[in-house]
Amino acid sequence: MDKQRIGFMGLGIMGQAMAENVLQGGWPLMVYNRSRDKTVILAELGARVAATPRELAVSSDVVISMLTGPEAVYALLTGEDGCARGLERGKVFVNMGSVSPAYAREIASGLAPLGVTYVDAPVSGSKRPAEEGSLVILAGGPKDTIQALTPLFLSMGKQVVYCGDVGQGSMVKMAINMLLGNMMEALGEMLSFGRAGGLSDDVLFEVLNAGPLACGLFGQKEKMLREDYFPAQFPLKHMAKDLKYAVDTAYETGAAIPAAAAMQQLYGAAKAKGLGEMDFSAVIKVLAELSGSKAGC
Ligand code: NAP
Repeated sequence: MDKQRIGFMGLGIMGQAMAENVLQGGWPLMVYNRSRDKTVILAELGARVAATPRELAVSSDVVISMLTGPEAVYALLTGEDGCARGLERGKVFVNMGSVSPAYAREIASGLAPLGVTYVDAPVSGSKRPAEEGSLVILAGGPKDTIQALTPLFLSMGKQVVYCGDVGQGSMVKMAINMLLGNMMEALGEMLSFGRAGGLSDDVLFEVLNAGPLACGLFGQKEKMLREDYFPAQFPLKHMAKDLKYAVDTAYETGAAIPAAAAMQQLYGAAKAKGLGEMDFSAVIKVLAELSGSKAGC
């Protein structure tokens, strides 16, 4: 059976690598990106390039979006040249970017009257897992559609986790990112506290790495924190938005997440200070500033 035609919109840090893996997996691929220069590499690799999201949807059976958030999804779905104009009965729209569960349900019900199936499929993993095709796909939506999409998902990831109905993939994503934001800030606090008290990073990391608190995340971020250099793997602006969605969602569900609410403020302040394009581990810069120079690198 021929492979379905895939349309991929959003070739940022994650989307570029994910789309390359779809192409390498043998799916016929068409791409769209607001800034056209980001389509050059994929065109060289053999993808077709759409002039508009509408053209992308007309030429695809499955449309994937990997965009910043709801504003971007809305911008590419709607309007005369919007993707929704090219979607018709039987097609599938898969949003892999991080949005709130409520927004995922909103898009699903907006597309349902067109006969278009919506799948909520945010990812766990950052730039390197996207490049290596080892993301974890957090899928929410109709089980049979997700089953049919699994080979496609496995071109981008190592595992597909069925999370439940539409919105539940985003619910898992918000839960995981809430933990991630808290852990990163806690690591930053540990360093700030230690540095202000006259400890070296060598001692702090030696003890951290030797004990039960050592983990993949802390290992990955050690170099950035020691060198005070934060090229974006997961941009801080995205963590700030995800914490907002987590706090909004907790307001709806009644969950108590006081630390995450404080983190929303802290990452928001970091973004306001111009750190949004850096990796989210740059949140330590705000802690250093609040602590005075002793806690800096
Ligand atoms: P990114 O590098 O900032 O890329 C964002 C993409 O969205 C770009 O293609 C950008 O187009 C497009 N976009 C933004 N605003 C738009 C608008 N108003 N209209 C049309 N297109 C717009 O982001 P990313 O790191 O790849 O992340 C994408 C999504 O995945 C986010 O929801 C993020 O939270 C999530 N995520 C990221 C990571 C990570 O580690 N980076 C990990 C897991 C999940 P232009 O190129 O024209 O700007």
